[in-house]
Amino acid sequence: MAFELPALPYAFNALEPYIDALTMEIHHDRHHAAYVNNLNAAIKDTEADKLSIEQILAQVSKYPVAVRNNGGGHWNHSFFWKLLKVNNGQGPSGELLKAIEKAFGSVDKMKEEFNKAAVGRFGSGWAWLVVHDGTLVITSTPNQDCPLMDIADVKGTPILGLDVWEHAYYLKYQNKRPDYVNNFWNVVNWDQVADNYNQALKK
Ligand code: MN
Repeated sequence: MAFELPALPYAFNALEPYIDALTMEIHHDRHHAAYVNNLNAAIKDTEADKLSIEQILAQVSKYPVAVRNNGGGHWNHSFFWKLLKVNNGQGPSGELLKAIEKAFGSVDKMKEEFNKAAVGRFGSGWAWLVVHDGTLVITSTPNQDCPLMDIADVKGTPILGLDVWEHAYYLKYQNKRPDYVNNFWNVVNWDQVADNYNQALKK
């Protein structure tokens, strides 16, 4: 079963002015599409062709590096699109808010630690908020690695993630990754994060 590029669940300009329409179009239609096509090519006629993307990532060390890079790229971007929505200053609430306060002291402290992970990731990669042994932790991964992979330093179930590859921000922000990271908080869909959190607790 070949994997498919999921449709972007909103218009390319839906995240303006924080993430520009041209970046979204290139990011989804070209970068994500390439991960899907390259993943399909890498698993064609192998046993991985019958697995879900999560099953592949959980044992990714068994496979060629093209599966790690493109399988991670496919999962990470599919996860990322759903996380984004202009939130007009809305923050987390309910059980998610309680869990953030328990783990980090406050939402601002969590953001501070997340921003540090996102800005501090040298080169290309991702920053993550994950459920790890029932609690929330922040981590980052290089390239298209993901905390669901068996090779991850910190394994867990992501509930929030940020793409810090230059392709995610360079047209608008150029070299100013910290500005992109700060503006990310304007486009976090906290309802989706809460949903991810509730699902993660069931695992
Ligand atoms: Mn990307």
